[in-house]
Amino acid sequence: MLAEILRKPLVGVQHHGLPVGIPMEGCENDLVCLRNLSRHFGNPDGPAVNKVDLCVHAGEILAILGPSGSGKSTLLRLIAGFETPDTGSVLINHFVASTSSKVLPPETRGIGMVFQDYALFPHLSVVKNISFGLKGKLKGEEKRIRVAEMINLMGLSGLEHRFPSQLSGGQQQRVALARALAPQPVAIMLDEPFSNLDYNMRKEMRKDLSRILRACRTTAVLVTHDREEAMSVADRIAVLHEGKLVQVDTPLRLYSHPETPFAASLLGSANFITGEVTDSGVTTFLGEIHVETSHLSMYLQGEIVNVLMRPECLFLKENEGSVNGVVLDVDYTSSQALYEVLMYNKVKILVSAPLDSAIRTGAAVEVSADLKQKFRLFPLQ
Ligand code: ADP
Repeated sequence: MLAEILRKPLVGVQHHGLPVGIPMEGCENDLVCLRNLSRHFGNPDGPAVNKVDLCVHAGEILAILGPSGSGKSTLLRLIAGFETPDTGSVLINHFVASTSSKVLPPETRGIGMVFQDYALFPHLSVVKNISFGLKGKLKGEEKRIRVAEMINLMGLSGLEHRFPSQLSGGQQQRVALARALAPQPVAIMLDEPFSNLDYNMRKEMRKDLSRILRACRTTAVLVTHDREEAMSVADRIAVLHEGKLVQVDTPLRLYSHPETPFAASLLGSANFITGEVTDSGVTTFLGEIHVETSHLSMYLQGEIVNVLMRPECLFLKENEGSVNGVVLDVDYTSSQALYEVLMYNKVKILVSAPLDSAIRTGAAVEVSADLKQKFRLFPLQ
């Protein structure tokens, strides 16, 4: 029901802030398009954002994932109109919103922002904070109804008259989200939205955020350095490295088919093991492994390559088989044990095992590869 209400254009409000332009070929279904976008602050280590081409599809949640300093926030600020690009353009609804010579002001772009620290007005109640997002867009009864809808959708009922200091981190975040969503933006930008929440709250808010954004059919761009967050919330992930876009793909595809060692490591624990390309696969010290034919054909027979082996593609055994390594360390997560093993050829390798596997540090073990898997290769650097 609420989702239905939210999908209707608001009476008296121009639904999207900017006029709708003519889509470029292939971008008909994209609400935000970045073309050759760069921003250089003059730092010696190069541009913060470097020639980025990226389109955000209508209705999707796109995560921008990268380590600290990779240019994520700058990219978000360029989309929202808080930064001027040095080259390239930002198109919102196919309309040019930013170029190096002209940047339309943030409030006219139809882009909602949720900041890392929520940026709520401390002296305004929940209702007044949410109403603020509708300033100049809705009045009187329409405004009151819209705010009530947002309060309902966000599960904030009963807290309408509290001030931000009287709310938990999760509740404050819901208010910030409500304020940004109330005017029905073309798209919403979320800058590290879960970083101020504790672990359990973070997991809960991730689920809520996906539910709310999907209910509203809102297009969202979420910036994060946390791969778990990106993988659990996003339809697609854009990987950023030193200002450059490395790969854009679905979480699963990025995990299983990373195009660079950087993307492979960013998406999960990764071992890189050298091997020699044969006509049917790759010979490694853990056996002859399989590779998708089209992928293998990119390499020459006899070439030495790096093979990506995720810890879950390896098996660990103690007291059986032939010993080829010693456990150096074990790290427990909520779902698995991650073993660091020093192999007899001096290579260190990560192997995952069930939590109850009870193999201890110092144990002599046999590590073997799951030879049913198809592995990914990278050129030797
Ligand atoms: P991230 O969000 O991925 O941590 P940022 O976009 O904040 O990365 O920063 C990317 C790079 O640009 C960093 O090297 C940062 O120091 C630099 N940077 C960001 N904003 C400014 C600024 N206003 N002035 C100078 N350098 C900046």
